[in-house]
Amino acid sequence: MTAVERARERLEKVTPLESDCGRICGAACCRSLEGEETGMLLFPGEEDFYRDKPGWKILKGSAGNVVVCPGTCDRRERPLSCRLFPLLPLLREGKVRTGMDQRARAVCPLFSSGLKGISEAFRKAVRETGEILAETDEGREMLIKLTEMQDELKSLHGLFQG
Ligand code: SF4
Ligand code: SF4
Repeated sequence: MTAVERARERLEKVTPLESDCGRICGAACCRSLEGEETGMLLFPGEEDFYRDKPGWKILKGSAGNVVVCPGTCDRRERPLSCRLFPLLPLLREGKVRTGMDQRARAVCPLFSSGLKGISEAFRKAVRETGEILAETDEGREMLIKLTEMQDELKSLHGLFQG
């Protein structure tokens, strides 16, 4: 099994809350704005799951390849970006830490409660997923890039908040 396969498997069954959080918000993170096809960032090696898969499209994004989904999915098909949301594994001083994904601020009702509002099993699974991804050079680079992007988003938000 490759690192990305193991990472996806680690998040196959665990979810942010013990109950289905999609019921709270009508699965807000699955809805793209009309005319907007932003897609989900793919982790190294994840393209292989979606190449030639009917209804799924791989596009080049500014931060790397992204996949655009058909709007509904089976849990087993879900890209890592969706499995991790609203958390992300970040790499700080060589260690994987779990953080709230800053992109969730505007979308996810769980954002305002922070990490303490997320199930402990999910937080642990996200950290362990990060550790699996960090085993490869490409995975580590991706985590570093994500950490930088998150720090930029956080400081931008701070600027707008004054
Ligand atoms: S937006 Fe947040 S609460 Fe809603 S389905 Fe997505 S992760 Fe769950
Ligand atoms: S892949 Fe599935 S979980 Fe992710 S946005 Fe599409 S429908 Fe939602």
